[in-house]
Amino acid sequence: MTKQDDRQHGSFISKPGKVKEVTSLTNPIVKDLRSLALKKFRDQQGVFLAEGLKLVIDALDLGWTIKTLVYSKAGKGNSLVEQVAARTIARGADVLEVNEKVISAITRRDNPQMVVGVFEQKLESLSSIRPHGNEVYVALDRVRDPGNLGTIIRTADAAGAKGIILIGDTTDPFSLETVRATMGSLFAMPLVRTTEADFLAWRKGFSGLIVGTHLKGAVDYRTIPYKGKPVVLLMGNEQQGLPETLAATCDKLARIPQEGRADSLNLAIATGVMLFEIRRDALTLDGSKQDNS
Ligand code: SAM
Repeated sequence: MTKQDDRQHGSFISKPGKVKEVTSLTNPIVKDLRSLALKKFRDQQGVFLAEGLKLVIDALDLGWTIKTLVYSKAGKGNSLVEQVAARTIARGADVLEVNEKVISAITRRDNPQMVVGVFEQKLESLSSIRPHGNEVYVALDRVRDPGNLGTIIRTADAAGAKGIILIGDTTDPFSLETVRATMGSLFAMPLVRTTEADFLAWRKGFSGLIVGTHLKGAVDYRTIPYKGKPVVLLMGNEQQGLPETLAATCDKLARIPQEGRADSLNLAIATGVMLFEIRRDALTLDGSKQDNS
């Protein structure tokens, strides 16, 4: 690999694959990378940051497009970091070698990981989602909290769900905090963004079961026959729950019985409880398939 000290301005996204050493926080490339902490700039450039070797390797293995790889001097000589750098260059993307201060500034962390990748954002269209068999999708109404969204993506992946449908004005699935909380599941879980009106229109062509969760739901979630049909699990907003428009479109409104003083469960916890009940018969400890999803 050749190394080049790059102190000139230019789009870090479009340069052909080379290793550049960057040490200054005022370097324009570093400024570009730091700007990706803001949604506005992520969306302008259609990219996002994924921190850590595991996440970057997961993303590359699953075919996500890398634009730039940043590694700190601490990663020099680490064979996995070298392999990731070689894979990045082979794909025609740039590799930056930076110091601790720079990687800290990019990731906004005091103890940053050795590696950060800049990847192209990827979303599926709602029309491409055609649940069949025993497939399960999770639809989230206006989810606001990045930690909740990341945890739900991770949990949905672990439960064997096929994708996540984000309805309305949701938190950004490509924010640093959400990506961190997914622990790599972001790269394995198809994501759709849609409006409530488009979801309601799509729903008309869906003949499986839509199960909404509602604190006023009349049905105990353990009594619903989920088996043998595709299921869309619809979860409400953290503050307001499901609006009437979405609740009315559900085949069932399920409730998780509670005791104690808490009014409700945390959204990500409620999603986990529901998903593992819906997938109860499909999941086995030895990974053998119990259904046709
Ligand atoms: N104040 C909100 C309300 O009245 O719906 C609380 C929303 S709760 C924090 C967020 C979401 O988690 C709910 O919309 C629902 O989807 C789900 N949820 C939480 N606890 C639940 C329970 N016991 N049964 C069913 N769903 C629940």
